[in-house]
Amino acid sequence: MDDQVKRARTEALFRDVNERIAESAERFDADSTQFVCECADADCADRLEATLDEYEEVRADGATFMLADGHEHIDIERVVRRKGRFNIVEKVQSTVRATVRRLNPRAELA
Ligand SMILES: [Zn+2]
Repeated sequence: MDDQVKRARTEALFRDVNERIAESAERFDADSTQFVCECADADCADRLEATLDEYEEVRADGATFMLADGHEHIDIERVVRRKGRFNIVEKVQSTVRATVRRLNPRAELA
């Protein structure tokens, strides 16, 4: 597996974790919660405070992710919005973009 696919899969895994976090926050009627950083570093343990509305904004596109400031890798992604507590990045490198879109848990809804 090449490095870019590996990094894309790591990010997709963090996205799956955040989907579960968002589900339980909704179940408990929370407005905001602590999400995990969705960067390509498998050892990253940063937590990002975000509202569920902000989270939905990130998930509206299968190629956008939420990352702690400075965790972006400019060879595969670019920052599209700075939210203060986290940044929204879009995957621009073609292999990474295709991989995360293919693994998008919401793809069937799009
Ligand atoms: Zn990170």
